[in-house]
Amino acid sequence: MDFAQKIRVIEDFPKPGISFKDITSLLKNGETYHKAIDALVDKVLPWKPELILGPEARGFLLGAPLAYALGVGFVPVRKQGKLPGETVSETYELEYGTDTLEVHAADLHAGQRIAIVDDLLATGGTMLATARLAEKIGAEVVGMSFLIELSELGGREKLKKYPVFSLVQY
Ligand code: 5GP
Repeated sequence: MDFAQKIRVIEDFPKPGISFKDITSLLKNGETYHKAIDALVDKVLPWKPELILGPEARGFLLGAPLAYALGVGFVPVRKQGKLPGETVSETYELEYGTDTLEVHAADLHAGQRIAIVDDLLATGGTMLATARLAEKIGAEVVGMSFLIELSELGGREKLKKYPVFSLVQY
């Protein structure tokens, strides 16, 4: 299936010069959504994850169905201050300023095999921070998968110590 053809590209969003890859046009199509999740399942299954971790918010849209299909749990990674229980947090650099991601400390455990899923790989900052959260708890990140990879932004290089899979590359 040509997944790229189903992704809506919106120029100059959220600011001038950015070519935004909008996945809502892929998700609204039942066949495409199903086949995209199936393609992620095929890739992630051999990593033998015991849990799927997905960063807010589009990581939820892919991570939850992937976890369901694999028969493993799903744990959300959220922006600072959203999770009610005790959390582990990781701060990372953005183009301007920083951002902080959190996960419930009790939801992962040392030695657990974790796969992380997000919609898009750009610089890799979000994914690296998510991996570090899992590693702070002692879990093992066995792989990372994305619907989309923006190849020129060097995310794969930043994540080179992990297996990385993407369905569509720009
Ligand atoms: P990175 O941390 O790799 O630089 O950026 C990836 C994060 O930014 C992902 O969580 C992703 O949801 C979001 N993101 C950045 N650019 C785009 C885009 O063009 N389309 C979508 N859907 N998400 C984007």
